[in-house]
Amino acid sequence: MTLPLDDLLLHNDGKHFLSAEELLLWKEHITAYPYRSYLYSYPHKTAYRDLQPPLPLKELWEDEPAEAFFLYMHIPFCGARCGFCNLFTLPDKRADVHTRYVDALERQAKQWATFTKHKPYARFAIGGGTPTLLAEDQLRRLFTIAVDIMGLDTTVASISVEASPETLTDAKLTILKESSVDRVSMGIQSFVAAESAAIYRPQNPDEVYRALELLGKYDFPILNLDLIYGLPGQSVDSWLYSLDQALSYEPEEIFIYPLYTREHTIVKPGDMQRQGDIRLHCYNAARELLISRGYRQYSMRRFAKEAAGTNKTILDYSCQEEGMVGLGCGARSYTRSVHYASRYGVSRKATESIIADYVATERYDTADYGIMLSLEEQQRRFILKAILHSEGLLISSYRERFGSSLWSDYPKLSLLLQTELGQEDDGVLTLTPEGMGYSDSIGDWFISGEIREQMERFVLP
Ligand code: SF4
Repeated sequence: MTLPLDDLLLHNDGKHFLSAEELLLWKEHITAYPYRSYLYSYPHKTAYRDLQPPLPLKELWEDEPAEAFFLYMHIPFCGARCGFCNLFTLPDKRADVHTRYVDALERQAKQWATFTKHKPYARFAIGGGTPTLLAEDQLRRLFTIAVDIMGLDTTVASISVEASPETLTDAKLTILKESSVDRVSMGIQSFVAAESAAIYRPQNPDEVYRALELLGKYDFPILNLDLIYGLPGQSVDSWLYSLDQALSYEPEEIFIYPLYTREHTIVKPGDMQRQGDIRLHCYNAARELLISRGYRQYSMRRFAKEAAGTNKTILDYSCQEEGMVGLGCGARSYTRSVHYASRYGVSRKATESIIADYVATERYDTADYGIMLSLEEQQRRFILKAILHSEGLLISSYRERFGSSLWSDYPKLSLLLQTELGQEDDGVLTLTPEGMGYSDSIGDWFISGEIREQMERFVLP
């Protein structure tokens, strides 16, 4: 929501400084509810609409300014749906369904390759869903499609694959190793069986330990582990126990996620409201532990060892994630001015029917569902992508890109500086350590009113 105090600032072209009392009020508003919306993409996919008329992909991609592209493949199948998940995925283990899906993805790749072959790929990621749910032959096929059809050069691109513990086998990890995968990311969420059960993710910790031992044998340059805090039945101590278990495997990277619930996820907001909200305590305790163990904080969720990386010399790629070529149903594609995807759904019925349409499709050469980014949305995206990461926003880069001043365009950003949630050093705007902990409410405050109207709303306590 836009605060009246923001308006006051805006009407004065950023020159008005609020009184100490007004600033306190504004800061209290930001910090009162730290978990408002997770802006893993901006604009969020729930703001996408029909594009009429559909946009020919040839025209969209031929002028895309990114130096190198990001190739993404989406595998929208899982063994079961986790209770907190609102991703585009379907619980379906049937091998014949997976094969038909990869057939469609290959068909799509053959058509898209002609639009995108003029630029190299600096990154390749296979996500989902659970890509390692696929049988070995289908998993191997994804790399063949990437290299032989899309033109991926695995020696200059970082390659990342998402995995889940129960799907990992020697044969599948051998395929990943032979395909020059640099990073394996595994969702664990919790090492406590009762906490996993509470989020409808029946997971025996022994299965997780088995997968971690197996991954250790293959020694991928980057192992990332995902954990969630704020689970029903979790305490700060049990959260730190899970984190400590993960750290004992010395992963190069750890993502820690606050639990979000929405009306259409299986775990409902009420399930969380029955217990006190411990998420901020968990975050602060985890941050302290991770930093004491030598991890650097890159965002509210991402911590990594500074030395973590691959031996490859990777092509340059903007952290703004433009030039993202998303293959598969549920994948998003980003050009600088248009974001598009297949339709979005979460319920079983909706997901099933969207995947069925995708598999039956013969032509994939137009974008018919997405969002055209106005100049203002491009600016807001540019700012958000930068300030929610520790690298921050190089203020001169804003002028270079948009030809105008950051402070005149968005004077309300100065509120961050005045409340010490943000700082400006050597021309770079970053969030302070305190501000980083409120990334989700700062992001939510900064998105435009128009996008906010269209977005799925997260439920506040
Ligand atoms: S959280 Fe991951 S494993 Fe669970 S349903 Fe969602 S995509 Fe599948």
